[in-house]
Amino acid sequence: MPKGNTKDHSIIKLKGVGPKIAQSLSILGIELIEDAVFHLPYRYEDRTEITKISDAPYELPIVIEGEIIKSTLIFRGKRMLITEIFDGSGRITMRMFNFAFAQHKNLKEGYFIRCFGAIRHGRNGKEMIHPQYSVFSKEEPLAIEKNLTPIYPLTSSLQQGRMRRIIQGALLYCEQKNLLKEKWEKNSENNFDNLLGALAFIHNPPADADIDMLASGQHPAQRKLIKEELVAHILCAGMLKRETEKRRGPSMKVSSSKEKEFIDSLGFVLTEAQDKVWSEIKKDFNKETPMRRLLQGDVGSGKTVISALAALQAKQNGYQTAFMCPTELLSEQHYENISNWFSKLDIKVDILLGSTKAKDRKRVLEELSNGVTDILIGTHALFQEDVIFSSVGLTIIDEQHRFGVHQRFSLLEKGGSAKQSPHQLIMTATPIPRTLSMTVYGSLETSIIDELPPGRIPVKTFSRPNSMRKKVIKRVEEVCLEGQRAYWVCTLIELSDELEAQAAEELFKEISDQIPKIKVGLVHGRLKKDEKQQIINKFRKGQIELLVCTTVIEVGMDIPEASLMIIENPERLGLAQLHQLRGRVGRKANTDSNCLLLYKDPLSPLAQERISTMEKTNDGFEIAEKDLELRGGGDIHGLKQSGLMNLKIANPVRDSDLLESAQKEAFSIAKNNKSQAKILIDRWIGTGQDYSDA
Ligand code: ADP
Ligand code: MG
Repeated sequence: MPKGNTKDHSIIKLKGVGPKIAQSLSILGIELIEDAVFHLPYRYEDRTEITKISDAPYELPIVIEGEIIKSTLIFRGKRMLITEIFDGSGRITMRMFNFAFAQHKNLKEGYFIRCFGAIRHGRNGKEMIHPQYSVFSKEEPLAIEKNLTPIYPLTSSLQQGRMRRIIQGALLYCEQKNLLKEKWEKNSENNFDNLLGALAFIHNPPADADIDMLASGQHPAQRKLIKEELVAHILCAGMLKRETEKRRGPSMKVSSSKEKEFIDSLGFVLTEAQDKVWSEIKKDFNKETPMRRLLQGDVGSGKTVISALAALQAKQNGYQTAFMCPTELLSEQHYENISNWFSKLDIKVDILLGSTKAKDRKRVLEELSNGVTDILIGTHALFQEDVIFSSVGLTIIDEQHRFGVHQRFSLLEKGGSAKQSPHQLIMTATPIPRTLSMTVYGSLETSIIDELPPGRIPVKTFSRPNSMRKKVIKRVEEVCLEGQRAYWVCTLIELSDELEAQAAEELFKEISDQIPKIKVGLVHGRLKKDEKQQIINKFRKGQIELLVCTTVIEVGMDIPEASLMIIENPERLGLAQLHQLRGRVGRKANTDSNCLLLYKDPLSPLAQERISTMEKTNDGFEIAEKDLELRGGGDIHGLKQSGLMNLKIANPVRDSDLLESAQKEAFSIAKNNKSQAKILIDRWIGTGQDYSDA
């Protein structure tokens, strides 16, 4: 989204948005009021009709409404709030386990209640557990929803209702300020006047809109947006490509005299694929134009060494390297590896994170600007204005599986005045399907590491329902007693470090209680950096045998001795993330490793398909293709999990039929309408500081 300095449009100006909410919104990439209208629903609920209790089907989301007959607190091991509802046709019980005292007080006999949820068979007939509900009086009846109810991706500190109000406010704001209203051509496929009209429809589809079509991204309002997004990405790729051709790259022709010494010190030989890729990069260094190279290689294929070799050559030629990572943990891991490798070679590696203390930060920046530092590793903290390199010649971006982050970065970097721009090496663990590389990665040359280091045995993957949990825990105990090391990964749906930490702590307690013989450790995102590092080091040394953790370990964690991973609630995660997590095991030559997906019944068909894909294959390419295929269509695994973070609505596999026409349109806009090109790139890609640490 366009970020820039447009303080006037800052989301905090919107009614009902204070600093705290603004902060939550910022996690979702919403900084400006316009950003909010691009925060799109991932599914809809139909609450436009009230069903009679007597006719109500089981297990389907529906709305019922009736009088509160009785509301009582009972204790059955647990505290419960039981509310009886009668609508003239039948009775239903609402059962709640988590509630506040005020909720009980509000459920007064004689008042009316409207509930949205699914009915199940309870002890005394039909019941709903924890439905969403509103209480009202006979005198002031509730209006029924006129539109389908959009459901948005959230962070834990926001709720759907609040998000809806914010987005409605943002739509109104754009309407009043005449934003996003350039005229559109109407045709048989599209009858919206402008972008804002299509967005308003997507946020408020009328009751008779086709909910299946909307859920699968096929509605004309969505298709129009999808196409525009694809056009924007194609335009951006083309622009970056032309820009690169105009610029000069820093001269990095001299091979490092320390190259051999470095490789010899590694304790392994480079694979053929690594050799090949390294020579491709060296060729780029020999050209006049800056390198723009995408290095693809599956998890564990050894990309880090290659990036180190590139940084070494930059240093030899008198240049610094900026090394950007998507998370703090990954930055730390890279920092540890690379500074270890380079300690003997008299090369100074440093790290800068959002969490770096002011005093350290000052030193880091000083040493960077006066050229003491050769390589600076860090998160989006490297983007900030006061981070000044004395002579940066190479930027390395480790995107992991978050496609397309580099485009934003490149747009920013362009801001410099010089005709020279640094060489760029972008690394990704997920091979990019062709449909995507055409759009998002169109401006890059590609290299592929298509073999794993020798002796790696593919991880065997199994799945078991949670009902077998006790057995699984016992089995983990046995395995650990035999000397193996294991991860137990706890996953949450919501984007919240705090909730995740809580869940991990509970899990830690459960497991430690059941297998007291095993040394169990715990890491989550809420721990301090040092604490985290300490625990990870213990695990590395074997002083901890079982590491209970959140998905913070997803990237970068490199402990070859760990050979078993349990992933709890894998149904909550996307394929890319599951594959990435699984890549933490199977890292030691000639060692069998296993991954167990401990899922919660019943699985949705899509979750089932993801899990069976994981069981069937270890091939990152296949998984990436499947991932794209399964995405969209009522299936979102939270923003954090979305590998396609940078695509707001398009799914290049699902929408591949639009690619050709998008390309034509992009071509024509690039040729005839430069200002429109700029608007679209700003709108869909933007140059904001969104290399976020999510
Ligand atoms: P990724 O491509 O996922 O970033 P890494 O660079 O983290 O992979 O490498 C995974 C592990 O394999 C590391 O422990 C690394 O030291 C090791 N490694 C890399 N290249 C080789 C090689 N050619 N032979 C043996 N081990 C290697
Ligand atoms: Mg890596």
